[in-house]
Amino acid sequence: MKFRDLQAQYDHLKDRIDSSIQNVLNGSVFIGGRQVQELEKALAEYVGVKHCISCANGTDALQLVLMAWGIGEGDAVFIPDFTFFATGEVVGQVGATPVFVDVDIDTFNLDCSSLELAILKIKEEGKLNPAVIIPVDLFGLPANYSEIETIASKHDIKVLEDGAQGFGGSLNSKRACSFGDAATTSFFPAKPLGCYGDGGAVFTNDDCVAELIESLKVHGKGTHKYDNVRIGMNSRLDTMQAAILNVKFAALVEYELDRVNWVYREYTKRLSGIVKTPIIPEGYHSSFAQYTIQLTDRSTRDYLQKKLRERGIPTMVYYEKPMHEQRAFEWILRSPVGLEVASRLCETVLSLPMHPYLREADIDYIGSEIIDILNRRKENAG
Ligand SMILES: *Cc1c(COP(=O)(O)O)cnc(C)c1O
Repeated sequence: MKFRDLQAQYDHLKDRIDSSIQNVLNGSVFIGGRQVQELEKALAEYVGVKHCISCANGTDALQLVLMAWGIGEGDAVFIPDFTFFATGEVVGQVGATPVFVDVDIDTFNLDCSSLELAILKIKEEGKLNPAVIIPVDLFGLPANYSEIETIASKHDIKVLEDGAQGFGGSLNSKRACSFGDAATTSFFPAKPLGCYGDGGAVFTNDDCVAELIESLKVHGKGTHKYDNVRIGMNSRLDTMQAAILNVKFAALVEYELDRVNWVYREYTKRLSGIVKTPIIPEGYHSSFAQYTIQLTDRSTRDYLQKKLRERGIPTMVYYEKPMHEQRAFEWILRSPVGLEVASRLCETVLSLPMHPYLREADIDYIGSEIIDILNRRKENAG
């Protein structure tokens, strides 16, 4: 059994993917090209924004937006304490200071009261300028944008949606990657929309920011590649990856999103009442990058993971460490708010195999093994 079965997906889409790759080889345009334009157009339309600008990966996508906004030294960027390292890394990369904010125990996403408190504390201290909030659509579930956008406009702060795991989700019928002033996603193979290597994209309705990012991602080009008007980066999406993504995007929309939501319901039927299962609040749709359960404590979580491994069921811990405990952020002396929920989640979360090609028999097996392992542990303890 695989945690995320990319092989099964390839088997399913083989004819379409092979011919799409063959088309690129036949045309022999490997950077840029029609496939990249097609993808950007299709994704912008689906998400419902004016511009989709593809780039080399989801980390660059975040950095390109911060660069286009001129974020740097003296700026405070508010990010969840419970996320993948890249969300905070890009903040340090442009010279700004990440401010870690606690998350919600049910949704794993930014806790809005913690966010507002952090903004007020930073303002009160008067050392940093509150500049950007980067909410993350963790595990596929959009963050609470209705509240985040209200807080942001009250304090005149920009919002950058990190939709690396969120592509395909929605909130009140508005699609993920359309929230805030700009949004990003990642096409890393294991993400809801993944390619066969690295890739990413920026989404925005802002014409000026879009134009700036088009320049920044190609060495700060002016009228052409050899006219360089600013310091940029080299961050493009390959033609081959775009060709693969065009096929995978169609599959995602046609059936994969429905399928992962079916897997979610089937898991939850078997596991609710046994462990804490994911909570999808009313009005939200998740693209289920992960199906993440919570156990009562670290020893139960570690025990369950070990026993499942012995029985051939792969699981993952996303994430083992909160951001504020990463050594790379040692230079940030302390967060202005408590980060208890993020720290607790790092001890109790466990992500189960989740992908559109998971079979009912697999779900049955995983469900009954979890129940069996936890029951035996309880009996031994009692
Ligand atoms: C994967 C991920 C990124 C980075 O994307 P890459 O394409 O791997 O650079 C950023 N933020 C989050 C939340 C992610 O999960």
